[in-house]
Amino acid sequence: MGIEAEPVKTTCPYCGVGCGVIASMDAVGNVSVRGDPDHPANFGRLCSKGSSLGETVGLEGRLLHPEIDGRRASWDEALNLVAGTFRQTIAEHGPDAVAFYVSGQMLTEDYYVANKLMKGFIGSANIDTNSRLCMASSVAGHRRAFGGDVVPGNYEDLELADLIVLVGSNLAWCHPVLFQRIAAAKATRPEMKVVLIDPRRTMSAELADLHLAVKADGDVALFNALLAWLADHGQLDSSYVERHTTGLAEAVAAARALPPSRLAEIAGLSPQEIERFCRLFADTPRVVTIYSQGVNQSESGTDKVNAIINCHLATGRIGKPGCGPFSVTGQPNAMGGREVGGLSNMLAAHMEIESAKDRDTVRRFWNAPRIAEKAGLKAVDLFRAVGEGRIKALWIMATNPVASMPDADAVKAALAACPFVVVSDISAETDTMALAKVKLPATGWGEKDGTVTNSERRISRQRSFLPLVGDMRPDWWIVSEVARRMGFADAFPYEAPAEIFAEYAALTGFENHGRRALDIGAYAGLDEAGYETLPPFQWPRPAQGSPDPARFFGAGGFFTPDGKGCFVPTPVSKPATVGEGAFVLNTGRIRDQWHTMTRTGKSPRLSAHMAEPFAEVNPADAASLGIADADIVEVANGRGKILVRALLSERQQRGAIFVPMHWTDEFAAAARVDVLVAPVTDPVSGQPALKASRADLRRFAAARYGFAVSRTKPAAIGADYWARAACDGGWRIEFAFAEAPADPVAAARTLVGAHETTEMLAYQDNERGDCRLAFFDGGKLVGAFFLSGAPVAVSRSWAVAQLQSPHDSPRDRFRVAAGRGGADKPDAGATVCACFSVGVNQIVAAVAKDGCRDVDAIGRLLKAGTNCGSCRSEIKGLVDAHYVVAAE
Ligand code: SF4
Repeated sequence: MGIEAEPVKTTCPYCGVGCGVIASMDAVGNVSVRGDPDHPANFGRLCSKGSSLGETVGLEGRLLHPEIDGRRASWDEALNLVAGTFRQTIAEHGPDAVAFYVSGQMLTEDYYVANKLMKGFIGSANIDTNSRLCMASSVAGHRRAFGGDVVPGNYEDLELADLIVLVGSNLAWCHPVLFQRIAAAKATRPEMKVVLIDPRRTMSAELADLHLAVKADGDVALFNALLAWLADHGQLDSSYVERHTTGLAEAVAAARALPPSRLAEIAGLSPQEIERFCRLFADTPRVVTIYSQGVNQSESGTDKVNAIINCHLATGRIGKPGCGPFSVTGQPNAMGGREVGGLSNMLAAHMEIESAKDRDTVRRFWNAPRIAEKAGLKAVDLFRAVGEGRIKALWIMATNPVASMPDADAVKAALAACPFVVVSDISAETDTMALAKVKLPATGWGEKDGTVTNSERRISRQRSFLPLVGDMRPDWWIVSEVARRMGFADAFPYEAPAEIFAEYAALTGFENHGRRALDIGAYAGLDEAGYETLPPFQWPRPAQGSPDPARFFGAGGFFTPDGKGCFVPTPVSKPATVGEGAFVLNTGRIRDQWHTMTRTGKSPRLSAHMAEPFAEVNPADAASLGIADADIVEVANGRGKILVRALLSERQQRGAIFVPMHWTDEFAAAARVDVLVAPVTDPVSGQPALKASRADLRRFAAARYGFAVSRTKPAAIGADYWARAACDGGWRIEFAFAEAPADPVAAARTLVGAHETTEMLAYQDNERGDCRLAFFDGGKLVGAFFLSGAPVAVSRSWAVAQLQSPHDSPRDRFRVAAGRGGADKPDAGATVCACFSVGVNQIVAAVAKDGCRDVDAIGRLLKAGTNCGSCRSEIKGLVDAHYVVAAE
């Protein structure tokens, strides 16, 4: 028995809200987390993902030692090989023959040294980040309008606003704590209005007073219509425009280039809907427009950003309490990566690679032998260059591009053909790790020390509270070691992240003189002790002077050469859906998973919310294709195909489908949706259009459907369709066969890992194709296997519970084989509230039988929605849907 550790204040490693977390470890090593009540991002709140962090820090599945060609290696051997191969490749083919592909999961200090090595010492700018997939269009839009990558406002503005416009942002699921902050503000000020602009009626619609179901990529047309309307109706802030901006006339002319009726048609909205939105915007002085991936991940992403910013500049709704355009980032440290030059077209500290003066400034500060002279390859082009053999040595850090990049199979083929692929990560088995020649074990959340920057420019410490196990090392250490072995020891002397942070802070202030917004020069002299206790703070924090770090541009002060904000004309381009197929394929996130599930996939609670990959389809479209709810469907186009579960929903527009981006080959047979996405990018930002590919949909003719629970991780799942998810006590597996398996018992034994000698109980109905098998080791269930000619109608929550229930009596054991709980054990249904494991059937019953009429009443009865609150939108949707039925 060990000693209980002191709680540690750190930061959640998932989304860009950047919530403060207090992590505790008990004497036997169990980790628990709670929200930090003092952190200004969340004031104690956490969403379901943050609340479940303790379930994701176990060592199962971790890479703990360096490997070369699949064999264990020492750090020395692995580092020498990486440094030597990079050095030799550069010597033979030049610096542009190597590349780094890094990640918004990395800490600022990790990012800083990787960028310094590539841009200042290797002399190439071929370092790009998976944040290119996330918010590059926002960066480009900010730079065009503001002269720098600056988010003007802060989270408090979301509570002070009288109108929140959500564009392409399912805030309820993707930034839940911000959504809860808005919901709480709206509850105290019901006059506050929320408009949702999204092709889908997402869970965020539960808070919306108006939902504008734009067509895919109809946003530029909509915001051009708004700008033209504001100009036509005398609603511009002439004083602000005149004193602080340039280019209004050109932007309005571009907006007026098409008549309002045509703009409405392109946006997919009625003129009345647009008029209502325009009046609401014009009549509300305090407006915050929040935008996210629905804006950024588009062929016209940068223009969308500028079309939004144009409306805020034109009305002076920027940089004042409760006002402003607000880009919310997907990743925990997308902002930090932007700050230190993680994007291939930026230098560190927001300096510009195109500027000879900036290049010289950075070169002198680093005393660098060769600074990159031009922008490097952006993510899509970078992997294309790998595929074409132009990049011969690639180092991927903390990301899984084989699952997350568009044209994902081409990326997979490119990595397979690349002469030298290094992957540093925490997970031993990812789709990308499988293709690495050299595998380097990195530290993960809990073991890492450094800083992250959230969406409101707030820098917070991530502090370690877990010991390093095996050979795992921080990313900054690994990169610095390689740099030293490449001959750059003097420039990479770091012993601790505090030293890197202080150097980075000094660079932000170096020859700045107010020229760049990003200035944290006040921390240039920070020592180890100061770094350890560093509280969350917003930039800027220059060494001299004390500008208000809360907001930018309320009184002008842009970072353009003339100090004025720029309107950018945003002509409406052609509809951007790409490729052939009957449906527009939209991709995105779900509430309880994160990226490619390498961490959230470990949590039974999180996996209980949506345990399978799915395609959300409008019921009318499904009917026309003969697709029923819970059928397996094939989504396909010329690039490939995937198999997922059909989820029929009126939330989905006709002619469009939504497929989540989380499932990889590790968790499903064929559900990497990005294999279907064309590598088409925004011409300014290089961000891929991940939300507007085209694909066809058809029912997969399954001869047999199956469901199983297994105490052990299923090793081989020989079904055409399968998806596995962690559950309490083991694994749950959904599957389907195109042809009935010849020997179901053999298939079941393989799936659940049962031996010939394991006790087996069987129930079979040959006419219906039903086969139900349960395997026992004494009173313990080893696994249960249910096969049927139709989707299996066994309660999932009941079956999962059997893994941890005693089965001492023959009657109990037979019940498992029969797939039936006792009458005293009703099916809770699919999990809605992950914190208290409350299912959909329980909530519907609470409405129908117990008279619950709102979310709070459900909370009082079942506790659902009373902890993290991430499920409150779903509960409200269920109450609204079933209250009418119950009342009839
Ligand atoms: Fe983490 Fe949730 Fe906060 Fe995002 S909203 S930082 S996922 S707790």
